[in-house]
Amino acid sequence: MSAATTAGAEAARRRTFAVISHPDAGKSTLTEALALHARAITSAGAVHGKGNRRGVASDWMEMEQARGISVTSAVLQFAHRGQVLNLLDTPGHADFSEDTYRVLAAVDCAVMLIDAAKGLEEQTRKLFDVCRHRGIPVITFVNKWDRPGREALELLDEIEQEFRLKPTPVTWPVGIAGHLRGLVDVREPGTLLRYTRAPGGAKEAVEESVPAERAALEEGADWEQAVEELELLAADDAVHDHAAFLAGRSTPVFFGAALSNIGVRLLLDAVVDLAPPPGDRPLEGGGTRAVGESFSGLVFKVQANMDRSHRDRIAFLRVCSGVFERGMTVTRAASGKPFATKYAHSVFGQDRSAVETAYPGDVVGLVNASALRVGDTLYAERPAVFPGMPTFAPEHFAVARPADISRTKQFRRGIAQLDEEGVVQVLVSDVRGEQAPVLAAVGPMQFDVVTHRMAGEFSAPVRLEPLPYHLARATDAAGAEQLNRSRLVRGEAMTRLRDKDVLALFPDLWQANSFAREFPDARLDPLVAAH
Ligand code: GDP
Repeated sequence: MSAATTAGAEAARRRTFAVISHPDAGKSTLTEALALHARAITSAGAVHGKGNRRGVASDWMEMEQARGISVTSAVLQFAHRGQVLNLLDTPGHADFSEDTYRVLAAVDCAVMLIDAAKGLEEQTRKLFDVCRHRGIPVITFVNKWDRPGREALELLDEIEQEFRLKPTPVTWPVGIAGHLRGLVDVREPGTLLRYTRAPGGAKEAVEESVPAERAALEEGADWEQAVEELELLAADDAVHDHAAFLAGRSTPVFFGAALSNIGVRLLLDAVVDLAPPPGDRPLEGGGTRAVGESFSGLVFKVQANMDRSHRDRIAFLRVCSGVFERGMTVTRAASGKPFATKYAHSVFGQDRSAVETAYPGDVVGLVNASALRVGDTLYAERPAVFPGMPTFAPEHFAVARPADISRTKQFRRGIAQLDEEGVVQVLVSDVRGEQAPVLAAVGPMQFDVVTHRMAGEFSAPVRLEPLPYHLARATDAAGAEQLNRSRLVRGEAMTRLRDKDVLALFPDLWQANSFAREFPDARLDPLVAAH
């Protein structure tokens, strides 16, 4: 088989996705359940498990040990029904950062996980915004149906109203949240998939297929209600439409309880059946790179200094086309220089093993990749350049100053390098001057990385002084002048070094609105994932 045929065939078998959710919705539990189903791991807790963090968390960085959280994106690969699934972790909790958003540049589909009692929450909203912006189709899983929660129809309404996304249930719960009797697969409405607690107290519930007549007899009102709700949904045209799903206009919805493994197999099947395989990818300046063409890949994350003694730097590359083979020499599009891939690994938490071959949709960790930057394209043979990584709306701001004034030169070099690597965004303003750059981040953890690396790597310890802003809007030179002139509004205008965009910073939405009232002509646009 030719390389192109192999790459095309392997791409068709792959599904590369991420779970987007708010902390505590059950992402770790679901990841574990998915992997268990697919038999990637054998014991519960080996994937995530807060009591057993070592499974996925890295202890590469000292600060990680101190805080007990992971800044390492795990990539979990497993097989299901002859397909290869790549599940990319989206760090949340205290490690929510720009990297969390960037992971979404490397997936073809997202599973939006919602807590049945809480509905849509802040981090889910932010991540969904990025999916919409990038045109990533979203499958919804309503979790924790074994616990009291909201009504199913009300949750669907919330998705439709808030996200302008048509929910099209593929499974439907029998029994209200907290009284889960089972699920109906809407494609086979004549059968109840009933779940009962396993004997011996095992977490995993036992599944049994019950025909409609018997379900009506045995489950009574719960079954009747589900049947009525399904009729309502059908009348409302809430049925899966594949084109609408791929276009980001609708979302297939699944219900379940990850903790008891209820509904997880159906979700896994959906990822295989509905999520799109890696496809031809748009290039900067027009045209596409076909999956079957020669190798190309996109660096979506760079993690530096995970091992201080080795000055280690690992670049996470998503293969976009062709076949990646360890040892091949590829070209870095940004510089035109060759890059050797001798140190290619598959990365799963702290466990690394050399990867020999990877196909479109797979993620490869390139160790010792000091030349690589977030957003870089690597290619073999025919050149390709993928669009760079967008910058995201920062919500945390701090002025950076050298702690030791005699290290000013190293300080400047360090800040410039961290900006270039995309560790934080660097803003400058005429008012503050270049001596006092303002660092902007999506999550406060990014500041910790700066502090750590500036001291350890550039020998230029920094002092960070937080600024009271939490909202950034795009404006222009005229808007910046108006903002700096305003006596009524608390806010400040700055220029982002990386792209020279002018940003207006405010403490909150209220101040931004007062500014808009004071200067109705001023440009004030949301940034990606801004709220
Ligand atoms: P994450 O922060 O999104 O990774 O959430 P976790 O997977 O750590 O889950 C948060 C909490 O919710 C844990 O105590 C889980 O045991 C619990 N949980 C997760 N899924 C379910 C579920 O389906 N039912 C119930 N009752 N609890 C769940």
